[in-house]
Amino acid sequence: PYTGPSAEEILSKRKQYLSPSLFHFYNKPLNVVDGRMQYLFDETGRRYLDAFGGIATVCCGHCHPDVVDTIVNQTKRLQHSTVLYLNHAISDFAEALASKLPGNLKVVFFTNSGTEANELAMMIARLYTGCHDIISLRNAYHGNAAGTMGATAQSNWKFNVIQSGVHHALNPDPYRGVFGSEGEKYAKDVQDLIQFGTSGNIAGFISEAIQGVGGIIELAPGYLPAVYSTIKKAGGLCIADEVQAGFARTGSHFWGFEGHGVVPDIVTMAKGIGNGIPLGAVVTTPEIAEVLTRRCYFNTFGGNPVCTAAGLAVLKVIEKEKLQENAFVVGSYLKERLTALKDKYNLIGDVRGRGLMLGVELVTDRKLQTPAKLETLHVMDRMKEIGVLVGKGGFYGNVFRITPPLCFTKEDADAMDYTLAKM
Ligand code: PMP
Repeated sequence: PYTGPSAEEILSKRKQYLSPSLFHFYNKPLNVVDGRMQYLFDETGRRYLDAFGGIATVCCGHCHPDVVDTIVNQTKRLQHSTVLYLNHAISDFAEALASKLPGNLKVVFFTNSGTEANELAMMIARLYTGCHDIISLRNAYHGNAAGTMGATAQSNWKFNVIQSGVHHALNPDPYRGVFGSEGEKYAKDVQDLIQFGTSGNIAGFISEAIQGVGGIIELAPGYLPAVYSTIKKAGGLCIADEVQAGFARTGSHFWGFEGHGVVPDIVTMAKGIGNGIPLGAVVTTPEIAEVLTRRCYFNTFGGNPVCTAAGLAVLKVIEKEKLQENAFVVGSYLKERLTALKDKYNLIGDVRGRGLMLGVELVTDRKLQTPAKLETLHVMDRMKEIGVLVGKGGFYGNVFRITPPLCFTKEDADAMDYTLAKM
């Protein structure tokens, strides 16, 4: 049994010693002390079904024994920087990761987070092209350092830092966007931005395949192929941010961009890649990767033995346990159930997403699409009381993000559906 400090004690220390900018879910925040696969446990031992943890880094399930054993064994053996010395963990994982990517995407740089991965990707695009302008999508989230905060396009997440050279294009959002699901119409805006806002040549374009923080928005069909072609014509590189949609989560494909039929020049990843271990990566082609030889590029812990050993263990678990197939089967089943709920309850304005990356948008008026912000908070709190944890996102904070560990079962989906229906 847990004998540590209570939720109140932790909260009070947090208030005194940690950043006042820290926020937490729920009126009465949850004190999580243990995790096992798709479950979290609080200090009383109460079990919660975790339908959000997949995004907060866990892809195989909390404390998956294969990943934990790998981490423990490697930690006992060696944890160090792999920049200056050789160690097989980093090269073994790089080889395995490259084998999961299409085309000539074969060179891996390791980082410690998604922010770092996107900062590096944007810098590589700028170096390779000699241009500075980058286009990202409104409503995107790409990180919180100076460059990536520039690419992030939600005022909630942006501080008053200098954000140079980033242009934000219309979001191809099938639910709220002006052109509905007509991807190619939104793509024209990227052409306009290049034509009227830059010299005509750009460094690149960065986007998620399904916006996570933005509220599980799957880019309108046809958008990415049209934009990728425009970007290439302007001499830019296409960066796919797979921090949330990657690693088998969408079920139909291993990478989110594959669902749009495009091949990026640079792919960035983090979160699920290490099943809870701080790890990120940038994968690109040998030719593009060459630009970093112009100077010294150094990242002390990027690619350290413990994290890369964990990464390799994660890939093995995804394959061994057929987690991509599971994401497809269970995700499709859950989406059907949620769509049926939408037919019954006016509060649900939209159900969307792919595999185990699903969103439920709550509105008080379906026609006006009025965000049901308070209702979202209320339902989320009630679900927690019943024992189901979901995430929240979207610019208005009115979208449930359902992104469980990929070991989520149909029974879990039923439990989730049943809980939502009771609200
Ligand atoms: N890209 C996307 C799509 C993300 O969702 C996030 C984190 N929410 C990041 C990048 C940044 O990752 P990190 O928090 O690991 O820096």
